[in-house]
Amino acid sequence: MRNDISLAPLTWFGTGGKARYLSEPATLEELKEDLAFAAKNNLPFEVLGEGANTLISDEGYPGMIIHPVNKDLKLTEREDCFLLEAGAGAKVQDAIDYALERLALGLEEFSGLPGTIGGAAFINAHFFEFFLADFLVSAVVVSPSGETKEVSADWFEYGYDVSRLHREKWIVWSAVFRLRKGSELEAAFAKGRAFEIIRQRSRRYPKERTCGSFFRNFLPEEACGKVPSVAFYLDKVGVKGTLSVGNAVVSRKHANMLETKEGATSADVIALAREMQKLVYKNFGLVPVPECRFLGFPSFPLYTKDTING
Ligand SMILES: Cc1cc2nc3c(=O)[nH]c(=O)nc-3n(C[C@H](O)[C@H](O)[C@H](O)COP(=O)(O)OP(=O)(O)OC[C@H]3O[C@@H](n4cnc5c(N)ncnc54)[C@H](O)[C@@H]3O)c2cc1C
Repeated sequence: MRNDISLAPLTWFGTGGKARYLSEPATLEELKEDLAFAAKNNLPFEVLGEGANTLISDEGYPGMIIHPVNKDLKLTEREDCFLLEAGAGAKVQDAIDYALERLALGLEEFSGLPGTIGGAAFINAHFFEFFLADFLVSAVVVSPSGETKEVSADWFEYGYDVSRLHREKWIVWSAVFRLRKGSELEAAFAKGRAFEIIRQRSRRYPKERTCGSFFRNFLPEEACGKVPSVAFYLDKVGVKGTLSVGNAVVSRKHANMLETKEGATSADVIALAREMQKLVYKNFGLVPVPECRFLGFPSFPLYTKDTING
């Protein structure tokens, strides 16, 4: 446990203030000790993975940031599949590489996805038609009081960009994925596919100082029969590579990706995102909803349907 730690280096945006405490548990016992410390000292806490989908407030966080560093990966062979157990702190890419080397296939569809297993499980990470939930079998989760239980994938109540963890504050400690058994030839093909996905990603998306897609696509009930892709509207309003606030700018590569330059603040990112929401609302009557998570803000920092006219 360390205190007064700058969080900017722990996120992809590279912005934001300090945390009063930063804990980096490597074992379940350490995590429980950290939670007990937070409870005893009346400290709020939040979990942070690789910060690839998080914007930290410039004011920082007055409580404890829990940054799990359990990165163990273990493969078990079953008659008809492999089970891959991954610690919440493991990088998704490390889990993919580990599995592919051992002829365990499926997760390569997420090749190049930044972030940890914990962060991916939180949001049900997705790429085109593939969702992490399609592979998840079970997970070990921990409550704020330190209660630990093993839950099945159903427990997460996954949807698009949403899980039970958005409502209830459980910490994912580890997760088990069901993977296909492949031959040497199939594994070689899967590695080639992984390579190609990463190549496409680096051509189409910025590689640093971003959180990927800032807004999520509209749900059918929000889009009311219109196109659900939020990038479609952002492309039409012409923000790509041009709209900026302070040192935050809309990426040249993707209209739904924001990038920060040296010296940017999280306030710049918020002001830019709000500007984008206004443009889409003015032209199409839809209010983009963030996929990016906000940490340390006193209240929700973007517009909602209720506040955009205020
Ligand atoms: C260039 C780029 C491309 C991207 N492309 C995609 C993409 O194709 N598909 C996609 O889905 N996402 C994409 N993202 C977003 C990001 O990769 C995912 O959301 C990823 O799962 C974030 O993982 P993380 O560990 O960085 O999470 P963080 O940003 O650290 O945290 C995100 C949320 O998860 C919670 N969380 C983290 N760890 C845990 C845990 N152990 N237990 C409980 N809650 C936890 C945090 O509290 C926070 O609310 C992209 C991001 C970037 C920068």
